[in-house]
Amino acid sequence: MLDKSPHPTPVAVPNDLAAHWMPFTANRAFKKNPRLLAGAKDMHYFTVDGRKILDAAAGMWCTNAGHGRTQISDAIAKMAATLDYAPPFQFGIPQAFELASRIAELAPKGLDHVFFCNSGSEAADTALKIALAYHQINGQGARSRLIGRVRGYHGVGFGGTAVGGIVGNRKIFGSLLSGVDHLPATYDREKQAFTKGEPEYGAHFADALEDLVNLHGANTIAAVIVEPMAGSTGVLAAPKGYLKRLREITQKHGILLIFDEVITGFGRLGFAFAAERYGVLPDMLTFAKGVTNGAAPMGGVLVRDTIHDAFMTGPEHMVELTHGYTYSAHPLACAAALATLDIYRDEKLFERANKLEAKFADAVMSLKDLPNVLDIRTIGLTAGIDLAPSADGIGKRGFAGLNSAFHDNDIMLRAVGDTLALTPPLIVTEEQIGEIMDKVGKVIRAVT
Ligand code: PLP
Repeated sequence: MLDKSPHPTPVAVPNDLAAHWMPFTANRAFKKNPRLLAGAKDMHYFTVDGRKILDAAAGMWCTNAGHGRTQISDAIAKMAATLDYAPPFQFGIPQAFELASRIAELAPKGLDHVFFCNSGSEAADTALKIALAYHQINGQGARSRLIGRVRGYHGVGFGGTAVGGIVGNRKIFGSLLSGVDHLPATYDREKQAFTKGEPEYGAHFADALEDLVNLHGANTIAAVIVEPMAGSTGVLAAPKGYLKRLREITQKHGILLIFDEVITGFGRLGFAFAAERYGVLPDMLTFAKGVTNGAAPMGGVLVRDTIHDAFMTGPEHMVELTHGYTYSAHPLACAAALATLDIYRDEKLFERANKLEAKFADAVMSLKDLPNVLDIRTIGLTAGIDLAPSADGIGKRGFAGLNSAFHDNDIMLRAVGDTLALTPPLIVTEEQIGEIMDKVGKVIRAVT
């Protein structure tokens, strides 16, 4: 167990790592050369052997306010001692209502209702189920088709996996949900390489939705789900005008538009939500990760009035939506989220990300001439650096980069295939941005 010190040295490690089957991890390689963490404070993690690691990944796109925020941990501890658990079905806690109002206040006007769950995956599946149920109660039950996008990621529930556009995730499980189709990815390296912010080229990729409407009939399509910036497949920002065009086409055909803002929510792109950055109002918006600064599991779906209100008919003693989780709006998560939102507001972290965007982009682009760099994309406080795959297999150079970063250069980054993703906490200083680039430069050279 950690004591209160953010820098525990050293922390005992069990001899046997076999029992823990780690998620989305190369288990055998990890267990031969583990990357074990013991503590975290501000911009750093601490390893079990006491090394200080610069966090250029906000954990996993989560800790936007940096680590070890005592305001958050104190709120969690206080809540745990006061109200450890409360059933969210047919009972409630004041903090859940307060939190929903505060999240709705941060969201673009019109997204006024919040349905809580515990993760980004649950948020995606919840939004898709609300879309299906909405059309049912609207007398349009034939609208059951769900549209995702190639290179999209919406978590690992059955719905999210099916609409997701990562072949490796989908090929085994995605087919379990029929009636799913995909828009093309918005990335074209030839036309977009080394773009800072939204690429000029690619709004027309949204027009593919008209083709899907022609193919399937608008009356069979329930919803389209996209990330305003696809994070997990390498930081692909929506091209200029793309989301607006998607909104126009969905509106024209009565199709619901869902933004998955699990990564882009809570400041990553310099706004509370990317929907605000792009001036596009979706019908639903999913969030998770940054809502609690990663300190407690929580996700949710922001829902437009018209959709929410459509459910609020029928006998008042009846459950309006037969969906929810034992841990929806868990007291500890609510406490963590309320404290997190206070920090975001008081430290103006979304504005801070906005102001740092240009400097961050310039700094990352300084790596463009290093060996094997095929493309660099930046948006908000996020960057994707594509490295050329090595001759002995796709993903090997990226994986080597992850290891070199952690073991040899004291930096945490994310590697997705051969792309290195940088997403530092929004508290990062200009000096630390420089330090990140120095370290990432060393990593790229090391895996040449
Ligand atoms: N949606 C997006 C856009 C994500 O990036 C992620 C996770 O990275 C998810 C959904 C799934 O979230 P979780 O891992 O909390 O289920």
